Amino acid sequence: SAKVTGRGRYQFFTEAMQLTAQRRMQLAKDLRNALSAEQLFLEYQPIVSLTDDRLSKVEALIRWQHPQLGLVSPAEFIPVAEETGLISEIGDWVFREAVSKSEAWQTLLQRPFQISINTSPVQYRDDTHRISSWIDYLRERCLSSKTISLEITEGMLMENSADIENCLLLIRDAGMEVALDDFGTGYSSLAYLKRMDIDFLKIDRSFVRNLQPDSNDLALCEAMIVMAHKLGIQVVAEGIETREQKELLKSARCDYGQGYYFSRPLSAERLQEFLCNGPDERH
Ligand code: C2E
Ligand code: MG
Ligand code: MG
Ligand code: MG
Repeated sequence: SAKVTGRGRYQFFTEAMQLTAQRRMQLAKDLRNALSAEQLFLEYQPIVSLTDDRLSKVEALIRWQHPQLGLVSPAEFIPVAEETGLISEIGDWVFREAVSKSEAWQTLLQRPFQISINTSPVQYRDDTHRISSWIDYLRERCLSSKTISLEITEGMLMENSADIENCLLLIRDAGMEVALDDFGTGYSSLAYLKRMDIDFLKIDRSFVRNLQPDSNDLALCEAMIVMAHKLGIQVVAEGIETREQKELLKSARCDYGQGYYFSRPLSAERLQEFLCNGPDERH
């Protein structure tokens, strides 16, 4: 009867919710040791210039190899890290790891090599201490402030706090570059563009996924690109998977592209091979 179905559904939902909550609790507990146990690592995804198809820089993407659960996605564990406050420690590790790789690849290529890292609003919340220490870290090593660029999200700009504003001022003063990630998915993106001094805008994958000639998505991409350029901001399109998407974005004067069409995120070793020998033809 309807009653039984109803109760059955209710039980199903609570069981599913309980499993989710249990997994989150386990992740929160295990994440504490993940850094020291060296279960966290970075992969690097090429960002390619659409004008000449050359690799411009890479984005570092964190991974967690959990001993029992296998590979856990950052989309799942970064929110847990934010809630537990572990994100600050993890974020510092990401920064230093990316600096050391940038330094190594700069030496290998004999030219500057920028690595873009993702940052969470929580990392800017306390005070400016953390950002100052990153800037000092680069200075102590005589590295350019362009060694690392910081990806921030609209969520961060929405917080509207003095700490965050001060952090952004510090970053700008030091000459570090900033990219606004997942552009177009948050609220009132345009208001932030007016207020914020950023270098790159990353068009979210959701606009690129179904890109077709004469589509609404293409009209939106074109409008975002024109607007960004008028504000002196360069544009990266995320999630390019096909040649057609790439060609449409190139025709729309998008500056850079990132996505499986060019390369999936690669281990440090694989990226280094890519840098030395060009893209692996098997992929
Ligand atoms: P994001 O910064 O927008 O990164 C792009 C995501 O799209 C990555 O997912 C990447 O693997 C994926 N991607 C790239 N090209 C394609 C494509 O052509 N098709 C499809 N379907 N996907 C593509 P990933 O690595 O799972 O990361 C998810 C999110 O986790 C990132 O989104 C970022 O917000 C966050 N994240 C990753 N690493 C870090 C980190 O070190 N710190 C913080 N705070 N967040 C991070
Ligand atoms: Mg990103
Ligand atoms: Mg993104
Ligand atoms: Mg995205």
